[in-house]
Amino acid sequence: MKGRVWLARVGILLLVLPAMLSLASCRGTNLLSKQEEIQIGKEGSAAIEKEYKLDTNPQRVAMVQEIGQRVLEGMRQVEGKRAPDFPFTFKVLDTKEVNAVSLPGGPVYVFRGLMEQTGDDRDMLAAVIAHEVAHIVARHAAKQISSSILADLAISLGTRGSAQKAASIATSLVMLQYSRDDEYDADRRGIHYTHAAGYDPEGLVRFFEKLRTLEKGEMKGLLANLRTHPLTENRIARAKKLIAELPDRQSPSAAPGQ
Ligand SMILES: [Zn+2]
Repeated sequence: MKGRVWLARVGILLLVLPAMLSLASCRGTNLLSKQEEIQIGKEGSAAIEKEYKLDTNPQRVAMVQEIGQRVLEGMRQVEGKRAPDFPFTFKVLDTKEVNAVSLPGGPVYVFRGLMEQTGDDRDMLAAVIAHEVAHIVARHAAKQISSSILADLAISLGTRGSAQKAASIATSLVMLQYSRDDEYDADRRGIHYTHAAGYDPEGLVRFFEKLRTLEKGEMKGLLANLRTHPLTENRIARAKKLIAELPDRQSPSAAPGQ
């Protein structure tokens, strides 16, 4: 049974690899199928969970999962038929870095250090999660995943993954940078998702302001890998404008399930 699963995995790899490698030289075009993205997300999350420890704090885990599910409901309302049928997962990594990442095909990770900053402000945490969900929905990573990450994933599959390779894949995925336009797109979608889910979309603005304060203080080092950089004034102004334009904004106190 194990052998068959393994063969199936190699089979998928052989099908996926040429598409993945040609993708690397053709940025801007979505050449990965949804199934291929799901496969990359699975391999990538195995690598991340080898490299980082999962947080087992029940309050934090429950909070991220609950908010994640509600953001997904908002996403489905906003995207309608375009909503991808990805196996979304929401997990917390036990590390003090202020960061959150998403992988193609569904996995979202929030770092403990970020939750320590958002505290009880669920709207702020929802904004971060919605931004990450938006990257997945809009399939932004497929444009940015480099040939070296793809090669590492291929080697990992081929060798069942050495610890060293897992570390390298995890680092590459956590450090992955999106274009400015894709960040704007994720902000815009995220604002709509949180709004549709009944959260206060101003949570995103509060999060940006929190980051700006952290950037000036002693915590600066913990932001080094934050994917949401660069945090420009323009980005904050843009978010505020998008929020002001939302039709019939719900008040957070009217949110369902609170
Ligand atoms: Zn982003």
